Amino acid sequence: MAKTAYFQDAAFQRHTMGPLHPESPMRLEAISKRLELSGILKDLRQVKAVEANAHQLELAHSIHHIQYLRDVSPASGEFPIDGDTTMMPHTLEAALLAAGSATQAVDCVFGKGASWGDRGIKRAFCAVRPPGHHAEREQAMGFCYFNNVAIAALHALETCKIKRVAILDFDVHNGNGTIDIFKDDPRVMVCSSFEHPLYPYKYVSVNRDNIICTPLEAHTTSRMFRRAVERSWLHRLQTFKPELIIISAGFDAHTLDPLASLNLETDDYRWVTDMIVDVARVYSEGRIVSCLEGGYHLEALAASVEAHLTALMQ
Ligand SMILES: [Zn+2]
Repeated sequence: MAKTAYFQDAAFQRHTMGPLHPESPMRLEAISKRLELSGILKDLRQVKAVEANAHQLELAHSIHHIQYLRDVSPASGEFPIDGDTTMMPHTLEAALLAAGSATQAVDCVFGKGASWGDRGIKRAFCAVRPPGHHAEREQAMGFCYFNNVAIAALHALETCKIKRVAILDFDVHNGNGTIDIFKDDPRVMVCSSFEHPLYPYKYVSVNRDNIICTPLEAHTTSRMFRRAVERSWLHRLQTFKPELIIISAGFDAHTLDPLASLNLETDDYRWVTDMIVDVARVYSEGRIVSCLEGGYHLEALAASVEAHLTALMQ
């Protein structure tokens, strides 16, 4: 069994955009309850998050974007950024901790820093809110403020003496923010599977060697998903040979999810994670950092995270 770190923080629960918003604190509650009941939580090395620092944020975002979020962060009340992304009093703290979890997770799987005490951890899951993959270099959007996986990838390239990182995004929405940040950076390969057409309606046919978009029609089944991902990702990953794999782990392609119309089952998250673990074993010494993105049906989300973690821990 691969030693696996699990990053969390009570502050993630304090970020709330109102009782009707699907990106709610109940998501993390559902996940932690499920992992506790199944007994998985006790097998994970639980780590409390620390905030990302300004330098880490600036790896992926402009100084202007970072300052803007600090400026509009309200002491009380709310500041709407777009129709479904709002700065609330605890949003900035949670967003800084989410990005910080991702960079700490990178340090952890590279055995840097003594704070985990336990060397030999090759996998990490960041149970974070807010998610990050829609956040572009200059723009918060789609419930996302800082791009957690992009910051983690650039932190790894800067500090871990590696040259190639792959970001694999199986959230039902296109990882537009991650693609925006890496479209001209061949050190990072971004593979994104997503329902099309669906929010954010961007980057469906980007023609770059390091950007692999896998659009899927509504009602795509497990079998179709598996075939599409295998065909479009596997060979490219084998050619690219990533030295670290980062996952944008969104679970909203599940058939029960209310925000989209793909028909994935819980077991598909075990399958896709198994595939990623196989690639990591060959090319990246087993190193995988996974960050929570979407997933809005509480039971399906919790069960899918359990399936993902079970595979990740193998
Ligand atoms: Zn999503």
